[in-house]
Amino acid sequence: MSAVMMDGKALAAKVKEGVRNQVEAFRSRPGLAVVLVGDDPASRVYVNGKKKDCAECGIYSEEYHLPQEATQAQLLELVRTLNEREEMDGILVQLPLPAHLDEREVLLAIRPDKDVDCFHPFNVGQLMIGEQSFQPCTPAGVMRMLEEYGIDPAGKHCVVVGRSNIVGKPQAMLMLQKNATVTICHTRTRNLKEMCLQADILVAAAGRAGLITADMVKEGAVVVDVAMNRNEAGKLCGDVDPAAAQRASYMTPVPGGVGPMTRAMLMENTLTAARLHGKQ
Ligand code: NAP
Repeated sequence: MSAVMMDGKALAAKVKEGVRNQVEAFRSRPGLAVVLVGDDPASRVYVNGKKKDCAECGIYSEEYHLPQEATQAQLLELVRTLNEREEMDGILVQLPLPAHLDEREVLLAIRPDKDVDCFHPFNVGQLMIGEQSFQPCTPAGVMRMLEEYGIDPAGKHCVVVGRSNIVGKPQAMLMLQKNATVTICHTRTRNLKEMCLQADILVAAAGRAGLITADMVKEGAVVVDVAMNRNEAGKLCGDVDPAAAQRASYMTPVPGGVGPMTRAMLMENTLTAARLHGKQ
């Protein structure tokens, strides 16, 4: 068997086109503020990508770039100002922040109805009880991709490798909402291979190149590789050995799988925020 490769790039383009069409019908334009602190090159690339996505979707965006040595008070003040600005439906503070800043306090300061990353504890709680306005972008992108390919998690055993607050845990929660039976694995899990071999849907989000070898994938399983690692040659790769495609029924490529979907979901969340603010 050779897996169907799930095309996140094409689907993300379709999602963004859908956002653009909806934006056109809004009474006033949705807006997204992107805050970047410091000069981390990877963060710069992500911020540029988000601005480009906004332009493509007809979403108004503003970028705020604070210097590396910005203080906690300056950053909090900026967030408070953006909280009050009606043009800005969403506020995204690009992570990671420089080490001297308190990430948690900053995320808490973002108004939950503008928290398009879905990192505020209020929104995390809403997700837990299934009443969320926003869904965290990466796990939401995974769910959308499964839907597009007609894969219903109901009754399936989903094994999520990774338990971070931004990927693993919310991914497990969204799978549960779709009636999957969920197992979460992490560094203290005993016999990861045995766990993975039980998965009808395997979501790899450990950030360890080569962690999931082909012999850890059940014949016919759906394999979603969230990770973005660099291999020894400096090439972008996931956690899953590409040879697993010989056993999987569906699989996501890296790059071109979950990454583009994450960006598209941010646009959808911005639209949701604008709806919350009565702009439709
Ligand atoms: P993270 O915060 O470092 O969390 C990694 C998780 O994987 C942890 O829970 C860790 O377990 C677990 N883990 C690490 N090594 C493991 C091992 N050998 N066996 C079992 N579990 C292991 O990372 P993250 O932010 O969730 O990101 C995960 C990956 O997804 C990264 O490659 C990141 O670049 C990628 N990512 C991609 C997107 C996208 O848009 N495609 C978005 C976000 C993240 P412990 O908790 O026990 O330490």
